[in-house]
Order: sequence, then C-alpha cells, then structure tokens
Amino acid sequence: MTLPKVTREDWYEVAKKTNWDPTYVDREEMFPDTQTGLDQYDIPWEAWEDWEETYKQTYREYVETQREKDSSAYAIKSGLSKAGLPHNLGPGWNNVLKLHFGSATLAEVAAVTAEDRFARFAPDSAWRQMAQFGALDEIRHGEIERAFPHEFVKEDPQYDWTLKALHTDNWVSVAARSLFDDLFVAEDVMDSTIGLNFAFETGFTNLQFLAMAADAEKRGDYQFSEMISTIQTDEARHAQQGNAALEVLKEYDKERAQYIIDKSFWRCWRVFAAVTGPSMDYWTPVEHREMSFKEFMDEWIVDQFLQNIETAGLEKPWYWDQFKWENEKGHFTHEIALGFYFWRPTAWFAPTGVTGEGREWLEEHYPGWEDKWGKHWDHLAERHREGDGETTLPQSLVMLCNTCQLPMPMPDPETNEVRPRSLTHEGDKKYFCSDPCQWIWENEPDRFKDQTTIMDRLLDGTIQPATLGGVLLYMDNLENHERGKDPDTSWADDWASTDYQPTPADD
Ligand code: MN
Ligand code: MN
Repeated sequence: MTLPKVTREDWYEVAKKTNWDPTYVDREEMFPDTQTGLDQYDIPWEAWEDWEETYKQTYREYVETQREKDSSAYAIKSGLSKAGLPHNLGPGWNNVLKLHFGSATLAEVAAVTAEDRFARFAPDSAWRQMAQFGALDEIRHGEIERAFPHEFVKEDPQYDWTLKALHTDNWVSVAARSLFDDLFVAEDVMDSTIGLNFAFETGFTNLQFLAMAADAEKRGDYQFSEMISTIQTDEARHAQQGNAALEVLKEYDKERAQYIIDKSFWRCWRVFAAVTGPSMDYWTPVEHREMSFKEFMDEWIVDQFLQNIETAGLEKPWYWDQFKWENEKGHFTHEIALGFYFWRPTAWFAPTGVTGEGREWLEEHYPGWEDKWGKHWDHLAERHREGDGETTLPQSLVMLCNTCQLPMPMPDPETNEVRPRSLTHEGDKKYFCSDPCQWIWENEPDRFKDQTTIMDRLLDGTIQPATLGGVLLYMDNLENHERGKDPDTSWADDWASTDYQPTPADD
C-alpha cells in the first residue's frame, strides 16, 4: 500500500491542532488547576486555540537537526581530545567551566520536568507538541553537559562537581537550586512558562550561553563554545513557548503575568550576576574578553529583553528605577567576585586574584572600580606579599538573603553601614539583600518560609559542630583536594609592581 503524497503545508496545520472536548472525564480532571495554573488567570479555555508556535517543526526535521548538532559538537570534542584540556586553558578559564558545569548541568535535568509538564498539561495541543521537543532538548543538554567535562575528572576532581554540586548544601548550590526549583519544578504550567521560558530563557540564558560562547571561542576553548552554542539554539526555540503564551494572555489577563515576570527577572538577575558576572569580568583572561558583563547586560537584557516585555504588552518591573548600575546592579558582581575569592574554601573551583592588567581593565569598564573595590584587593594582595596568605581566608560566615540565598550587600563604602531589610513572620526574623527580594518573599511567604539559609542552619543547630569547619563539612563534604584554593598567588606581586599605590587596609 502506498500512502498518498501530501505536502507538509497541507498536513502540518491539521496535525498540530488536535484539541478536542473530552467526554469521558471532565476537562478539570484532565487538566487540573494544580498543574495548569489556569485558575490564576482569567482566560476562556477556547482562547488557547489561538496559541501559535513560531518554529513549526516536524518530528523528522527536529531529529535531523538535533542529530547534526550533536555530531558536530562531539566531533570537535574528539578532535580536541589530545589538546591537553583543561589544563592548558589556565586557572581562570577553568573556573568559568567548573562553575558553569556545577550550576547548569543538573538544572538542565530539572528543566526536563518543566517541559514534560507543559507536554502533558499545557492547554493547547500545538503547545504540548512543542514542549515534547523541549523535553528532548533538555535531556540532550543534561547529557552533553555531563559528557563533555567527564574526561576532565581524572585530571581534576573539582570537575566531579558537574554531577555533585546541585546535590549538596553548598551555599552556591542552595542559591541556584532555589531559583531552579522555583521557576522550573515547583510551578504550574502558566507561571513556569512565564518564569522559565520567558524570563529565564528568552532573557537571561543569553548571558551565560551567548556571551560565554564568544569568550570561549576567543580563549580557544572551541569545545565549550560549540557545546553551549548548540544548547542556546535549542533554548531559543523552546523559549518561544513563553512568548506564545503571553500573546494569548495579554488579551485577557496580565496582572499575574506581570507579577511572575517581576519576580523571575529579579531572581534570575541575582543568580546570573553571581555566575556569569565573575566569569566574564574576573576569570576570563583579559585578552579574551569579548565584552564586559555590564555591556552584555545592557545590550541583551536592558535593551532587548525590555523590548520583549513591552511587545508582550507588559510593563518593565516596578523596581526598574532601583535597577541601575550605580546601585545594586553595579555592585553585586564585584562583591561576589571578591566573596568567591575570600570564601574560596567553600568553592568547587579555584578562585583567582586580580592581576594588575585585570585591574586596569576593570577600572576602564567600571569607572570608579578602584575606589570601591581596589582597596579590598589591595588588602588581600598585601597579605599575600607579606607571606601571610592564611589571613586572607575566612574566619566567619556572611549573612545570606532569605529569598535568593546569596550574600547580603557589603557595607556602604562611604558610611561603612550594612542595612539589611528584615521582617518577622510567625516569630521568625527574615533578612533580605534588597527591596525586590523582600517583596518576593512577602508575596509568597508559604513558598519561602521554610527555606533556610546556611546561616539559619548554623544558628538553629542543624550544622554541627557550629564552626567554620563544621560548615565546610556540612555544605558539601568538600574533600581537601576538591576545596577551592588560590592556584597562584603571584597576582599579588603583580599589584605591587603596577603604578597603583596600595592604600592602607581600613579595618
Ligand atoms: Mn537547556
Ligand atoms: Mn530550556
């Protein structure tokens, strides 16, 4: 028997819209609100028929394209198998890789769950079909991100944190997991498509997956560059589910969508500023930096993503006036880069210091960096030069924010004051790094109230012994050979030999 030859155009539209009215069960049983989240939005069911995919891919085309992408990425990997990776990439770039693999790989696996939920519970059949490709995408990402660094493990056990990091209670892992669970796993279809597909993927993954691909290529790490580029092309496709949902939503009910955007944008900002910021501005060798984190943020997030928000019929987040480079936005990456260095025993990578060349680059790209941050690095460099490196290690912990789980702002450089925001809920005091983090918590106390920070766990007796050593053990059972150390303190001599005059330590 031969099948009649029907052109793609003739069957595609019919095949993708296969919505029907269930007769054996109620629609509410088939698509419960707990999974769809539709009870939060005032949109008639029929409106979802207008959900319009932009990529219009068939399964055959999907498989062909994905197969080609995988083949070329793995070919580059095997071509470079004798290239001496990862050692010859230098300690700074190795940090970029280790932080990426530790924080991203298992997040890809969590994203499979989100896409699977869309594939089953999204209110339109074309959406459900596109989400199946999305789930296959995320399975592929989880696999390729485990496969690529695997051969590095025997050379450098910190690469084992690709699989390990998100299973630990390391503070970076807790913060990353808190974001991923909130956006990917602990949300219904509606909130997750806005938080994950729209805010996270249409917006922020560009920072790590486009910006770092450019830096990787300049660094000569073609393997990493190719890997994250093939991932980004998938993200760009399945991220469109979020735009398509917002197209329907903006006709009927925008209020909750606006809330989810405002919340997700801020949560993504904090984590990406901590991961991508130091990678771009501190660890990528100066001569291989394509752009600063600030320049990339301005182009991709402030301009392009804001435009997406407006196209979707929504407003810029309410805190936009606070979200300026002269405020938290300009400080956080530098604070966390310094924090990673200082609390390096808690890292699964090897935080490096800032060389004289790096310092010039930072002052050029962040005018005023010298005044605000140079003195802290001066202080650390001086300790190293005096052979007193032990005193550059932490003796205590910092306060962490009860929403984003990341460190509180450092004291104001002028007044030396720390002003955390706080509230008391059911007798417990909660602290926040910023107004948006406090606002997010206040909107969903039941979601956040039992999420304790490492500091909370120290104070409530969960961490034993209640010492810094106990905390290191608790956070990750970091074996000594996996614990972050400065691989080369000669950066501190470099500072002495520049024109910059170290200022006296001010503590
Ligand atoms: Mn992915
Ligand atoms: Mn994705």
